[in-house]
Amino acid sequence: MGKPVIVFGSFVVDLMGRAPHLPVPGETVKGSIFKLGPGGKGFNQGVAAHKAGADMIMVTKLGRDTFAEVALNTMKQLHMDSSHVFQTDQAETGAALIMVEEHSSQNAIVVVPGACNTITEEEVSSLSDLLSQSGYLLTQLETNGSAVEQLVDMAKAKGVKVILNPAPVQPISDSLLSRIDLITPNEVEAEILTGIPVTEEAKAGEAADWFMAKGVKAVMITLGSRGVYLATKEKRSLIPAFRVEAIDTTGAGDAFNGGLVAALAEGKNIWEAARFASALAALSVQRIGTTPSMPEREEIDRFLAEHKEEVQ
Ligand code: ADP
Repeated sequence: MGKPVIVFGSFVVDLMGRAPHLPVPGETVKGSIFKLGPGGKGFNQGVAAHKAGADMIMVTKLGRDTFAEVALNTMKQLHMDSSHVFQTDQAETGAALIMVEEHSSQNAIVVVPGACNTITEEEVSSLSDLLSQSGYLLTQLETNGSAVEQLVDMAKAKGVKVILNPAPVQPISDSLLSRIDLITPNEVEAEILTGIPVTEEAKAGEAADWFMAKGVKAVMITLGSRGVYLATKEKRSLIPAFRVEAIDTTGAGDAFNGGLVAALAEGKNIWEAARFASALAALSVQRIGTTPSMPEREEIDRFLAEHKEEVQ
């Protein structure tokens, strides 16, 4: 096994309620199902990488409240390392209020990142030794941007490879982009960042060129059930998704990114890693939920063995 990987990002408690229709302002609607569970892009990606077998260190920030226990209990149950989880009295643990309409599955979400949006300079600096031992850093844009910028700077100085999943999408400085080894936008994020609508393979290529001109070394644009467009300096191609019966595609991107960093840390090349990540994501979309839908390593290996001929 290679060096450990760091997943740096958000934790929020997902509070999901289903109802016959989404309320309009001022309306209260009686719902049918309520679920509370761990979430947040960072945490979902961390769980995916961990279950896929990575030596993964999760870095996030919680309040000191009941919702913090949701994170800590989940980490304990899954035997995840929680030694680099920060906590504060100054902010609440993040929460996402998710309303889902029963028939259409349309949703409306308010996400309050809370504590994980208050990661301080000192806290990031304290990760220096951990970074020195790590091979990869995977991060997203759901925590405060100042922390992401600082950590990526430190990672580059130490030769740690940086993967950025630019979600939720927001403007990214040229200096941050120039320090990214691999960026993994979905097609909507790629379009917002580059201004190029990724409607076909040629357009995905143009968007990849845009990122590479900014100094990003490799680009993976995920295209949902169509697969992922991968561009490196040497080669580019569309890797089709595995054909499966999707039931719940929320968190597909998180599954993909977690799988990707796990595979790269093991020493798989970028093409093999994309295939591994696609398999992990294909398994996750066949189940409801985010963290509970992340498959175990044995399932991923079995799935890949059974689908040998499908993806190059
Ligand atoms: P996001 O969740 O960020 O929008 P995507 O929808 O692009 O990300 O999905 C990420 C990856 O998950 C895809 O590249 C693909 O490998 C896999 N995936 C997503 N939806 C499906 C699906 N319906 N069937 C098989 N694989 C899927």
